[in-house]
Amino acid sequence: MVSIKSASDIAKMLEAAKIAAEALNVVEQKLRAGMTTKEIDKIVHQVITSHGAQPSFLGLYGFPGSACVSVNEEVIHGIPGGRRIEDGDIVSVDLGAFYKGFHSDTCYTFAVGQVADDVKALLEDTNASLYEAIKAAQVGARLGDVSHTVEAYCRERGYGIVQNYCGHGIGREVHEDPEVPNHGKAGHGMRLVEGMTFCIEPMINMKGDGVHTLSNGWTVVTDNGSWAAHFEHEILITANGPVILTKR
Ligand code: MG
Repeated sequence: MVSIKSASDIAKMLEAAKIAAEALNVVEQKLRAGMTTKEIDKIVHQVITSHGAQPSFLGLYGFPGSACVSVNEEVIHGIPGGRRIEDGDIVSVDLGAFYKGFHSDTCYTFAVGQVADDVKALLEDTNASLYEAIKAAQVGARLGDVSHTVEAYCRERGYGIVQNYCGHGIGREVHEDPEVPNHGKAGHGMRLVEGMTFCIEPMINMKGDGVHTLSNGWTVVTDNGSWAAHFEHEILITANGPVILTKR
């Protein structure tokens, strides 16, 4: 069931979202070659807890980190650990904060140092597909319009689209209804109404749609080793258009 948020719910969700956005800002300031993914996780944990919030992902379905840190061919759910970031890598940091009863969730893929031109384009295009999809999230539009926007934008540019994972409603739970896939038919699916809050999160591969999970049970990587980007915002549907709660 899709939960419609009240004004007071939304005020609290915005506070939780701001903490998550700040955690990404601090990661962006500190991220550099030579750091391990565990060090990034520690930064995220420190920022979130310094606000009296809790990391939404820590312990979620048993996840062992405060953030999912996914490097290069890792698409999502990277477990923070000893992997060292190198110059030219891309690093997706997916995180959320639980505050005053509500969760937040956002992700950004950072380029470290000098990345290849095609990788830079992958990041820019994936982020642009997210913003195009957000524009499509108008009252009266359908969820399929949002999904289709991501798909069309990324297919046109020859990228692979991860099919097995998707965006989601968010609020008192990290993952609520509805599911928000990155592919779909325009004009189909649930109609968007005021007070809905959900995450749109394109997970886009340089080539090929296929992904699989590593033996650690978490980390999802591309089948062909090509690199992947992941950008996510949490939005609120209003009569005046979509509002990005996790805006930085
Ligand atoms: Mg999410």
